[in-house]
This record gives sequence, structure tokens and C-alpha cells, in this order.
Amino acid sequence: MPLSEGLSAAEAGARSARDGPNVLPQAARNGPLKRFLLQFHNVLLYVLLGAGAITLLVGHELDAAVIFGVVLINATIGFMQEGKAERALDAIRELLSPRAQVLRDAHRQEIDACELVVGDVVFLSPGDKVPADLRLVDARGLCVDEAVLTGESLAVEKSTEPVAADASIGDRLAMAYCGTLVSAGQGTGVVVATGAQTEIGRISALISAVEVLSTPLLRQMAGFSAMLTWVILAVAVAAFAFGTLVQGQAPGEMFLVAVGLAVAAIPEGLPAVMTITLAIGVQRMARRSAIIRRLPAVEALGSVTVICSDKTGTLTRNEMTVQRVISADGVLEVSGGGYVPEGVFRSAERELEPAATPLLLALGRVCVLCNDAELTLEDKGWVLLGDPTEGALLSLALKAGVDPLRQRAQMVRDDVIPFEAEHRIMATLHHDAHGDAHIMLKGAPERVLALCTRCMGLDGGERELDAEHWQQAISAAAAQGMRLLAVAERCAGSGLAALSVDEVNEGGFVLLAVLGITDPPRAEAVRAVERCLGAGIRVKMITGDHVATARAIGQQIGLAAEVKALTGAEIETMSDAGLRSVVLETEIFARASPQHKLRLVEALQAEGEVVAMTGDGVNDAPALKRADVGVAMGCKGTEAAKEAAEMVLADDNFASVAAAVEEGRTVYDNLKKAVVYILPTSIGQAGIVSAALLLGVTMPITPAQILWVNMITAVTLALALAFEAAEPDIMQRRPRDPREPLLTRFLMWRTVFVGALLVAGGMGLFLWELEHGASIPVARSVAVNAVLIGEVFYLFNMRSLTGSVLKPAGFLGNRYVLWAIGVLLVCQAAFTYLPVLQTLFGSAAISPAAWLRILGFGVALLLLVEAEKAFVRRNIEPSRNGGA
Ligand code: ATP
Repeated sequence: MPLSEGLSAAEAGARSARDGPNVLPQAARNGPLKRFLLQFHNVLLYVLLGAGAITLLVGHELDAAVIFGVVLINATIGFMQEGKAERALDAIRELLSPRAQVLRDAHRQEIDACELVVGDVVFLSPGDKVPADLRLVDARGLCVDEAVLTGESLAVEKSTEPVAADASIGDRLAMAYCGTLVSAGQGTGVVVATGAQTEIGRISALISAVEVLSTPLLRQMAGFSAMLTWVILAVAVAAFAFGTLVQGQAPGEMFLVAVGLAVAAIPEGLPAVMTITLAIGVQRMARRSAIIRRLPAVEALGSVTVICSDKTGTLTRNEMTVQRVISADGVLEVSGGGYVPEGVFRSAERELEPAATPLLLALGRVCVLCNDAELTLEDKGWVLLGDPTEGALLSLALKAGVDPLRQRAQMVRDDVIPFEAEHRIMATLHHDAHGDAHIMLKGAPERVLALCTRCMGLDGGERELDAEHWQQAISAAAAQGMRLLAVAERCAGSGLAALSVDEVNEGGFVLLAVLGITDPPRAEAVRAVERCLGAGIRVKMITGDHVATARAIGQQIGLAAEVKALTGAEIETMSDAGLRSVVLETEIFARASPQHKLRLVEALQAEGEVVAMTGDGVNDAPALKRADVGVAMGCKGTEAAKEAAEMVLADDNFASVAAAVEEGRTVYDNLKKAVVYILPTSIGQAGIVSAALLLGVTMPITPAQILWVNMITAVTLALALAFEAAEPDIMQRRPRDPREPLLTRFLMWRTVFVGALLVAGGMGLFLWELEHGASIPVARSVAVNAVLIGEVFYLFNMRSLTGSVLKPAGFLGNRYVLWAIGVLLVCQAAFTYLPVLQTLFGSAAISPAAWLRILGFGVALLLLVEAEKAFVRRNIEPSRNGGA
């Protein structure tokens, strides 16, 4: 196989079948049995199991069986939900599978890294994650960060020279190892090992551990539940002492009461519901093109106050077209849109014949030679592979009648200085048929103009460069939002074999033209910016483009009525304090490089902002890591940026960042709803038990019945809230203060309020039944159904924390709610009427009249909570900072 052709597709297929896919062995996960047993590993369940054991010892076998049964069912449900959440996250991780640039069948192409086989020729660029172990055959300034493998954080400069056979990994300079990151330069290598055979594959301990399904908030809630459990235990012990010592009740009976109290008050279902809410949120974000890499980002997204976004491709469409050619002899307009190479050149309404215009031919030649993109005509139209800016230049060259293939054959490329955001130029070295060297240069106008002394007229003649003429034309194009790129050329005589930055910086170039490239804003980004501003989130544009271009685009996108801009050079002259004082009020940072991004994030955070920052290049990694939510581009982003980011955008679109913020807020809302939904059940039931104890009446609900209620609500009703869609005003609220606790004072009030209503309903109806001659099992069944039906109505209330639900959509809007209620009603019918369950739970059939009373209670609860919401909306909410 010649290195210039790579493997054939057939050979690659055969090798892949022989060696298997290029994937690293998965880190070992807990087996199903261990994961199931881990479900019991929490204080709550220890308490329940202990209570079950003692219940058994004191001779209540049936109650004990029910307690054990419910604990088992709870654990099974937790196990299944956790499995579902993990599968959801696994599926999302698969969306992030890395890609590799390879040479196959003599064509450069991009494939999934898992398809690589031994012998493949792979190209490396800055920001790439090396996809397999490679023997380098070409390395130009190639630096690789091998920290994952060697622990050495300084990047290593690679070469192709052989090294001693016994050299250690860190010294094998001719190798690039799987999993390491290219930090600079270019390289080509041949795959020598894939998958488990690679160095990193062999050191399985190094493979990143599976992420735990948790976030700071969930951990905080888990801590809260654990603390609650101990408090409840203390209360239960106190109740036991009170009953036996003060009221003189039998210890056996009192023990059951104490167990009932503990079981009632401990919110068993809460952790599972919170985990599933989070997983559903992550899935929803993925559906809206925002792929979460680290779960805590979901929470941070909900409280983002500033989004710093790249311009090109994120706020704009990244469909570049050269519409203006600024030449020494005036401005030419170019017709045609997109990459389709059909269009004409006009100067003052006069059409120019490119073949008869030497400048256009020379310009077209530099455009195709100083260019790494490919533009091909396929069935679906013109398809671009590579950088859109370069695609626009290829299209321009084709419009000028310049054939890229012929040019590249006639003027062979010897060397290249690739484009990098820091120095904003690209240069290539070619030699022609006579052996003369030519340097082709393109880049940001101020950089290129500084290297030019002369310029070319339309007729091909050279003359002195009139800086003022160029500046004026450049400013005019930038003010219209055009992206600007200057193109120049220099003959370097014979003998020049390699290109260095110093060589280019010597200057002496002939300026051919400055190109005005349009890149229209994305319509959806404009809408998303508006939504963000409405949601109290500032949007800042950070771009490598010219300040005037950025300003015009910023205005078109609606960043502010009057946009303020700073340039990278200005940032450089500012102290940290100086930057902090202006950073909030400035919308645009132009000609900014990745280092400036880091300073901006730091300045914003110092001002107390929660920052989301987008990025794509290898040098953006520090800023992405530093931001509260680092956002990497999924399409044009490098692997280095993705590794550093918390979230990856599948479509590189700003609208997806805004969508993720919206989903982040929704997840937080739904977590709150789940908590404020589950806690009142606990409080209500504990209240009923305590009230009965204090009043000295029979227990209205037995421990087994309490467990039943908790289990049924956790798997049906509370889970339905995890699927709740965003509230309509979600993007009209101010961002949430990250220091705000999940349970605000208002939510605590709501918990206690509804808990009290449940106590009143359950206890009231129980006593009413007893008063009217019902048996204890019947009265208890009424009490249990009252609590559950109360919960059903409260579920409708909780579809919005403070908004009214008294409208058709309030009741019918979430089909999971309806499903959950359907399941609950079937369960309750079984509980009330099925003989087996009657024996197990001590329940009994109840009359239609009793059902009507229960229903009446449910409706009353619904209306009371709605009345409370209306009061809050009218009197408290306007002064509160954002939502509930
Ligand atoms: P961002 O994506 O951060 O909004 P950007 O992509 O517009 O910004 P860069 O890609 O850093 O910014 O480009 C900055 C400038 O560099 C451009 O205005 C252009 O003049 C020049 N430039 C862009 N691409 C190339 C290229 N492939 N070759 C040479 N010069 C380029």
C-alpha cells in the first residue's frame, strides 16, 4: 500500500472484521446483582428493614411481610429507574463518538474513529485526540499533550526520526498514542495498534471511570434526606416514649405507631424521582442538540446569567459567499449565493470578463492554492469539505474560471503555515514549472496589508499601495457586516524549500484584493438572543473578526439597542480591575483570541456572573474549563474543546445553547416540583399519625398502608412531574441565584400547607366514618383513599408552582399525569376491593357515598391551593426575583 493512497475500503473492511472495532475496553461496571443490592444501601432502607424485623419479632407477621414486600418493590423500582437513566446517558455519550481524518482509496475522508484499522493513514491537526497508536511519517511542529499516558503536562514535540528500541513511552517521539491530544502543528501517521492493543487500552486502570449519576444538588438532597431520616427516627423514639410512659399504652402497639410515624415521614421515593428527573432533562436537551457531558452542568445551565458566544457558525450561518472584491481599481460586486460557483463580476454596473482580467485570474489562483478545502459537485449539489471561509474562496475562483485541479498540478505545494486564530494568516509555498518559488498569503486585512508594499491593478500591473484607499473600502465593507480577508502573493525566486513565519514576516508581498465575505445571521439565533435577553441573560459575542464587522452583525442579531465593542488589543492594555469594570456593559469582543476568552470568563465570574462560554479550538480549552458551563461545538469543534466542555452542541447553533438553558431551568423547576410534591405526603401522613397519637384515637393509617401510599405516589404521581414541560414563562424569569436553596421559604410553606390539608382531610374523613358507625378497616380505607385522591388533585396543582391550572390545558396538558392517575386509580380500586390486598393491608370496600366525600375533599384541596397561588401571584410574586 503506498502511503499516498492509504488502504482500500475493501482491505480496511477485511482488517476491521479481523481485528474488531477500534474501541477501548469499557471500564468495569457493577453487575446487576451488586447494583440491586446497592439499592438497599441507604439509611432509609436500613430503618425500614429494622422496623420490619422488629415488627416480625413482636409477632405481626403480616405487617412485617408487607414492609419487606414494599421495601423490595421500592428497591426494584429504584433499580429499574436507575438502569433507565443510565441507558439514557449512555445513548447520549454515543452521540459524541470521535471522528478521524484518514486517507483511503487515495481520498482524504472523515470516518468514525471506531472504524480505524492497522495500516490506516491518519492526519492530525491541532485539537485532535489521537484516535489510535500511530507511527508518525510526517510531523510539522507537531506537539502532543500526553498527560493521560505519561502524567507529563508539557506537550511533547514529535518528529519522525526513529528512537532507540528500549526508549520509554515518553521518549518515543516518532509515535503518537491513542487518547493523547494534539496541541499544535500538523502530522500524519500510520496506525500500528487499535482498541485494546493500544498503549492506553492496555492500561485499563487509566480508562476514565463511569460517571456517577449525581450532581451537587442531588448530593445536597441526599444529605438532606439522610438528616431528615435521623430527625424522624428521633421523633419516632420520642413518640414511642410518650405513648408508653405518658399515655401508658402497650409497648407492642406503640412500637407499630412509632414505625408508622417513621415510615410515613421518610420520603423513600425522593432520590429515585430526582435522578430520573435529571436523566429526562438530559435526554430532552440531547433532543434539542445540546449534549451534556457532565451532569452538574444541567443545574448550572438553569442559573446562567451570561452567555459568551462565538460568532461564526454559532450566531451566523457559516455559509460564506464572497460578494465583494476590493481592488486597487475600485470595488467589484460578485453575484450568486452559497457555494454554487455561478456568478459574475461587476464594476460600476459593467460586467467584467474574468479571462480578460489578469487580476481576477491571479486572485483565483491564490484562492485555490492557499486553501485546504474541497468543493465538489455531488448529486445533492455543491458539497464543501473544510473551512467555509476557504469554501467561499474556491467558489470565487471557479466563478473567475480558475480550475483548482489544474492549478494545484501546475504549482505544487511545498510547505504551509496553517491558519490559526492567534496569528490570523495562512501562507503556502509553491514552485512553478520553472522551479521558481511563490508564497501565497491570505488573512486578516490588517495583518496582510502590513506585509504588502505594492498592489495589483485589474490589468495585472503593479503599483504603490495607497493605504488610505484600502482602509476606506475595508471600513465600508465591515460596516455592512462583511467578513474581510486580504489576499497577497510574493515571488521568492528559486531555492526556497521551506516556509517559516519569519520568511513571511519579511513582507514585500503584492496585495491582490481584499474580499468582502457575507455570512448572514441565523434566523433562529436572532430569536434565541431575544429570548435570552427576555430571560435576564446577557449575550456577548466573542469573535476573531474585525470590530466593525462584528459590530454590524451584533446589531443585526439584536445583542443590544446600541452595541458596545472592545478589541483584543484593548483588552490586552487593561488591568483585571479595568476589564471587570467594563465587561458587563460590553457586548462585543472583536479580534479576540482564546487567551482573551479566559480573561473574560474570569472577569465575569469575579462580577458574580454564572457564565456559559462557547469554543471550538484547542486553545479554547482553558476558557471552557473555567466557565461554569463550557460549551463545545460538535461539528467544527476539536476533540480538545469537547473534552474540556460540559456540553457539546450537535449543530453548533447558538439557539441550542438557549434551548439548553431553557431545559436547565425546566429541570430545576421539575426537581422542585417533585420535592414539593413528595414532601407534603410525608408530612401529611406523619401528621395524621401524630395527631391520632396526641388525641389518643385509633391509628387512621397503618404502617403497611403508609408504605403503600408512599410507593404508589413515588412510582406514579411524582414521576409524572419529571416529564412536565417548561412553564410558559420559563424564559421570562430572571436567572436563578445559584446560592438559592432548592427549598425556598415559599416552598417550605407550600409543603406545610398542603401537608396540613392532607392531615385535615384524612383525619377528618376517618373520624367522620367512625362517628357514623363504620368499622375501623372501612374508616382506614377512606383515610388512605382520601390522602391519595388529595394527592391526585394536588398533582394538577403542581403542574405549575405558582401559575393557575384552572383551564383545560392545566388538566390535560401532560399525558404522563393522566396515565399516572389512571394507574393510581386502578391500584386504589385493587387496594380497596381485592380480597388479597384487603387481607394484606387491612383494607375494606367503601361505599359510593364515601367516594363522593373523598372527591369533595380532593376538589376542595385543589381549589384551596389555587387560591393560595392566586394570592402569591398578586401579592408576593411581583416583588420576588424570578418564579418560585
Ligand atoms: P469566531 O468563530 O470566533 O466568531 P471567526 O471564526 O470569525 O470568529 P477567525 O476564524 O479567528 O474568527 O477569523 C479571524 C480572521 O482571520 C477573519 O476575519 C479572516 O480575516 C481571517 N481568516 C479566517 N479564516 C481564514 C483562513 N482560513 N485563512 C486565512 N485567514 C483566515
